[in-house]
Amino acid sequence: MDATEKTIFELSATGRKGFRFPSSDVPSSDLPESLQRKDLPLPELSEVEVVRHYTRLSRLNYSLDNGMYPLGSCTMKYNPKICEKAARISAFANLHPLQPIESVQGAVLILYEMQIILQEISGFPACSLTPAAGAQGEFGGVKMIAASLRDRGETQRKIMLIPDSAHGTNPASSVMSGFECLAVRTDERGNIDLNDLTSKCNEQLAGIMITNPNTLGLFDENIVEVIRIVHQAGGLVYGDGANMNALLGIVKPAELGFDVMHFNLHKTFATPHGGGGPGAGAICCTEQLKAYLPGPIADILEEATEEVPPLYGYRMPEKSIGMLRSFWGHFGIIVRAYCYCMMLGAEGLRRVAEYATLNANYLMEALKQDYPLPYDRTCMHEFVLDVKWPDAPGIRALDVAKRLMDYKFHPPTNYFPLIVHEALMIEPTETESKETLDDFIKAMKTIAREARENPELLHQAPTETPFGRMDEVKAARDLKIAE
Ligand SMILES: *Cc1c(COP(=O)(O)O)cnc(C)c1O
Repeated sequence: MDATEKTIFELSATGRKGFRFPSSDVPSSDLPESLQRKDLPLPELSEVEVVRHYTRLSRLNYSLDNGMYPLGSCTMKYNPKICEKAARISAFANLHPLQPIESVQGAVLILYEMQIILQEISGFPACSLTPAAGAQGEFGGVKMIAASLRDRGETQRKIMLIPDSAHGTNPASSVMSGFECLAVRTDERGNIDLNDLTSKCNEQLAGIMITNPNTLGLFDENIVEVIRIVHQAGGLVYGDGANMNALLGIVKPAELGFDVMHFNLHKTFATPHGGGGPGAGAICCTEQLKAYLPGPIADILEEATEEVPPLYGYRMPEKSIGMLRSFWGHFGIIVRAYCYCMMLGAEGLRRVAEYATLNANYLMEALKQDYPLPYDRTCMHEFVLDVKWPDAPGIRALDVAKRLMDYKFHPPTNYFPLIVHEALMIEPTETESKETLDDFIKAMKTIAREARENPELLHQAPTETPFGRMDEVKAARDLKIAE
């Protein structure tokens, strides 16, 4: 091991210090024996050693701040630093949720306005910001469907339809809400198969969960017809809006006929995410469903008069499914999303959608010359390749993904959606320059050539990273986070 790769314990030298406490100006007294630990093995280092150690470790990590992160479905776009700064303003970061409402008017105003922004983007008349992640937004939305069916006296409606391209959280949310899931096939153009759908719509139908654009990155060409068929059978239509990148300012899900949807503020609105959170899975819905929204909802409690501004506060919807999270959900994430939307404005948000789509199509057109593209039509914010070459039979999507790391790119999402067996799901996002996209294309084309000429190079990859290829099964089954 290189001297610079030592752990912080190996670098330790007895007596070395990075900080000296000022001498005490009060009488000393001994800690009770029971509170003392004599064997605490703390490393002893100078300040410069600690700074270098952690700086070195931070450079081993790949992040959006040092390169492209084309992670389909997860939308890792650049996070403007001003959004981070806004969330860290002490007047936001140090609030206590039980403070008197008069003392937190600015914070509640942000929640109120964020609800309106999402209502405008989605076309729905109501919004709740409280879910802590996309999956929780789904869970809440599906619970709302269950509650409304119960109130209609239609508890026999137990079937939730889920297209076979869906994110795994969709069936999970449905099952947790007491529904039975039935898969709907995708047709050869990447749309929901209308015949299969029609055959599954009957008096047992509770609804359908649709991701549009779907996880193949395709806008369903029959979406209005799909929604009509489900509504006619008495079902409700849920929209998985985790990735609204391609739709912002262009298509409003409410106008397509959706009944309820969630957003992922931490994907579409640039908040950093990964490693399990935190996130925000805001729900928007129709007039018919809004009484069931999870609470609390920000609202104007007392209208403004000539002398005083309005009083903002919160309320629970009349038939609310309840609270999904303590207090307001993840307020800091909402501040970031609010900052992002206010910075871009309506026109800027529309440009996000235009550039996200343009960038994805630019990559797709260049890469389909070298990689099989199972659904060859204009994509939205992402597209899916199928790494299956007859003249390089031993090469899998995983090999290409790993080799990309040697070219300093984060791998795309792989092996999802499940209907594409050797899937590489690529989402460049709107924040990458043409030069970066061209570099990515060059790396991908080089890898396609290597697959024929030197397949072993791909099987061994990555070789340029701090660690080589991991045994991912063992890492998941036998996780050791510390020695
Ligand atoms: C990310 C994602 C989700 C789940 O969101 P989380 O915040 O990770 O819970 C749901 N559906 C789709 C399509 C997604 O991409």
